[in-house]
Amino acid sequence: MKSVSMADEYFNSNNQKQAVASNTTSNKTMSIFNTVFFTFFFSVVYYLFVTFREKFQTHTPFHLTLWEMVAVVYFGASFVYFLSFFGMNFLQSMPFPEEEEEEQLLDETNYKDNLQSTISVAASNQIKDGLAAPLPAAAAAVDDNITKDDEEMIQSVVTGKTPSYSLESKLGDCKRATFIRRKALEIITERSLEGLPFEGFDYESILGQCCEMPIGYVQIPVGIAGPLMLDGMEFSVPMATTEGCLVASTNRGCKAINASGGATSVILKDGMTRAPVVRFASVKRAAELKFFLEEPLNFQTLASIFNRSSRFGRLQSIKCAIAGKNLYIRFTCSTGDAMGMNMVSKGVQNVLDYLQLDYPDMDIIGISGNYCSDKKPAAINWIEGRGKSIVCEAIIKQEVVQKVLKTSVESLVELNMLKNLTGSAIAGALGGFNAHASNIVSAVFLATGQDPAQNVESSHCITMMEAVNGGRDLHVSVTMPSIEVGTVGGGTQLASQSACLNLLGVKGANKESAGSNARQLAKVVAGSVLAGELSLMSAIAAGQLVKSHMKYNRSNKVSSNV
Ligand code: ADP
Repeated sequence: MKSVSMADEYFNSNNQKQAVASNTTSNKTMSIFNTVFFTFFFSVVYYLFVTFREKFQTHTPFHLTLWEMVAVVYFGASFVYFLSFFGMNFLQSMPFPEEEEEEQLLDETNYKDNLQSTISVAASNQIKDGLAAPLPAAAAAVDDNITKDDEEMIQSVVTGKTPSYSLESKLGDCKRATFIRRKALEIITERSLEGLPFEGFDYESILGQCCEMPIGYVQIPVGIAGPLMLDGMEFSVPMATTEGCLVASTNRGCKAINASGGATSVILKDGMTRAPVVRFASVKRAAELKFFLEEPLNFQTLASIFNRSSRFGRLQSIKCAIAGKNLYIRFTCSTGDAMGMNMVSKGVQNVLDYLQLDYPDMDIIGISGNYCSDKKPAAINWIEGRGKSIVCEAIIKQEVVQKVLKTSVESLVELNMLKNLTGSAIAGALGGFNAHASNIVSAVFLATGQDPAQNVESSHCITMMEAVNGGRDLHVSVTMPSIEVGTVGGGTQLASQSACLNLLGVKGANKESAGSNARQLAKVVAGSVLAGELSLMSAIAAGQLVKSHMKYNRSNKVSSNV
């Protein structure tokens, strides 16, 4: 990972100034040397010309005097000097086809480097002009006006008299609690927290909801990809990431989709799941409960009990699996605009309490028995779905594939078959039949306050590519059975994440139709994944073609496909 601080850039630019100054001095010496050299050179040429013409006209034999020999040696040495001066420049100006092709290969890397250096230089100029402080150290600085009360409290935490976790409730001030905790931590660990920002964050907003025992916050840059044209609407997609090229690449995919008329998405299912594990004394008893729960006639009763816990949680189905005398009960319910884990868990607890009356021998082992399955790769989510199951497609025109994506329909289809389908199959992939869906899912999740751990199942995706319209255009689709997102609850209510949701027009609860905001967000995730898949696959396809062209066949036939 390349990281150049603004201060480094400032010093680098000073070094560059010194280098420029020393270059100016050596240029002066060089010009004096050249003046003397050229005067001498032309005098020698003139001297040789006059003497040899005289010898020629008077038919004198060509015996060289001492001065003539010195003049000839000087002439020879000057010739070599001229050659090294002008000859190399001439050679360097010659166009070499190999270099041009290498430049094409390095284009993407250069773009990244150029962008970084441009931004760094701009930043260092700002520092010089006094327009910006050398961040981020300054942003991390903590107000060091520690009061006597603060000092006593810090000591109390350091000595273990006051538990760190109790600071918020004891002080009734979340910011002060955070300040005391981080100061105590610095003393205990003898490590500085400089660089981890403290100021500029609302610590009340995370209390009892997002993070315990805070000591500051981590900054992640947010880039913007798009607009993405999806179902006739345009979305600017915020992506929080530290992976260079990711936003630029997704942006290129969006451009290709837009130039081809946009993408279309369909929601196939919308339901969050929770699966408790219960144990009986015998297989027979476990099977009895399974049959009871899966009997359609009992569904209404169970649903009315489940639905009591929330205005939005509505039971959709119950699916059971048995392992010996242990029963795994997978409840699926709609959750409005919430991602829904809390909601579904409350509903499940209601049903378990009810079942316990008729099945007193039922031993509730855990509210979650991993048949749900949350934050772990599992075939059940891949096959049955969890959260929002979505399919999203676009038809990319041949000229867009060539001009924007710099590859061909044929090579994309072939690469998809060999990489995303066959390659993933032989790797034994579970939901990983794609190029980098998790890259886009994680970045959008972080920007919009989703649970980043649910990236595991939310990134399950099969990418399909097919030549259509007589083989000219590309049909591309992503099928994602378990995108788990919400626009209320969890991290979605924090200021930065909420701003990103607002940008997408899906902030908070949808008043007209509960669940529409969360479903729209899931569609945007799928559409962005479609863009990301298109762009990365194209980069790989183009790269492979150029490489194999260089290695195996330097004819124009292959390069015309690129
Ligand atoms: P999760 O179930 O995803 O963990 P929370 O329980 O933290 O989410 O947040 C859901 C809360 O938001 C519930 O208390 C619910 O009543 C409330 N809420 C308000 N409007 C909506 C809505 N449109 N959809 C879902 N929940 C909503």
